[in-house]
Amino acid sequence: MPEKQDYYEVLGISKTATKDELKDVYRKLAMKYHPDRNKAPEAEEKFKGISEAYAVLSDDQKRKQYDTLGHSGFDQRYSSEDIFRGADFSSIFQDIGFNFGDLFGSIFGGGFSGGFQERETRGQDLAYELKITLKEAAEGTEKQIRIPRTEKCEICDGSGAKPKTSIKTCPKCHGEGRVQQLRKSSFATFVQVVPCSTCRGKGKLIETPCSSCQGLGLARKNRKINVKIPRGIDEGHQLRLKGEGEMTPNGRVPGDLYVVVRIIPHKSFMRDGDDLWNVLLISYPQAVLGAEVSVPTLEGITPIKISAGTQIGETIRIKGRGMPRFRGYGKGDLLVRVGVSIPKRISQNERNILEQLAKETGQKVKNKKRRFQF
Ligand SMILES: [Zn+2]
Ligand SMILES: [Zn+2]
Repeated sequence: MPEKQDYYEVLGISKTATKDELKDVYRKLAMKYHPDRNKAPEAEEKFKGISEAYAVLSDDQKRKQYDTLGHSGFDQRYSSEDIFRGADFSSIFQDIGFNFGDLFGSIFGGGFSGGFQERETRGQDLAYELKITLKEAAEGTEKQIRIPRTEKCEICDGSGAKPKTSIKTCPKCHGEGRVQQLRKSSFATFVQVVPCSTCRGKGKLIETPCSSCQGLGLARKNRKINVKIPRGIDEGHQLRLKGEGEMTPNGRVPGDLYVVVRIIPHKSFMRDGDDLWNVLLISYPQAVLGAEVSVPTLEGITPIKISAGTQIGETIRIKGRGMPRFRGYGKGDLLVRVGVSIPKRISQNERNILEQLAKETGQKVKNKKRRFQF
């Protein structure tokens, strides 16, 4: 890579240039090299160069570091994203009628947000983890949650002005907060809407700021929100509640709220997609002879048939007794895994019968008289 040109040389200013001189020079060069105006192949590169120089030299701290460290030292500390972070191009570009966000996005690649515009027009998204039971997931439910978030200040009703003081409608944008600008390229003239620079997009000019919110028009609140949980929802699913995120100073587009569903593990049912699993313990005679038994399902007890000769670990499928299909029809199945329970205590009579059974089938058992020793 060729050695980078000195930022002061790029802009053609002296090391002692003031902020105003800097701004003036940058404005002139930007008008000359902006890719919308200048179609020469080297213009974009040149524009990028002067913008980078301006971003660094217009920031007191970065300028000082650049003066001390020189190019190579400075580049080691700052990525190109860092260089542009916090730099204020919006006022300059609004004055000369260029859209700041789009331009930087296209020249410097994705990931570079328009800074000022982006931050002010859309609030941040919020996330909330909501715990529900498996039964609630199966039936669907409605839950009230409390979200700490930024909302309209109640003292000034979001206006940012101290109550009973005057708020003027911005004369430049007539209260719209946005102004149309004509933007010419070599092929056509575009009408572009940009935030008003006089009122910073608010549409209003405040004389005395509200003392509760310092003129921001915003306050932190613990807000109650009702969340509808559709039936069949699964662990980790995200529900998006549009507009329930953070509010922005101009109150235009709040962010969204993402409710992340967590399902509390059930004491007897395991979930596998739309199917449920559980374990049923039967006795040895039931397994051998077959039986009719009751099993719990999410909706209550249901009878099932155990066929004669059922083995330990065998699975019985009960159709349609699983979880409802999320945003679909029908239900999954309930899978019952069979186990055999072995009693730890038996009566003398049971003991006699079992010993007889063992004898009948030629099996050796421990012949202990009378009682079990537990
Ligand atoms: Zn207020
Ligand atoms: Zn305005």
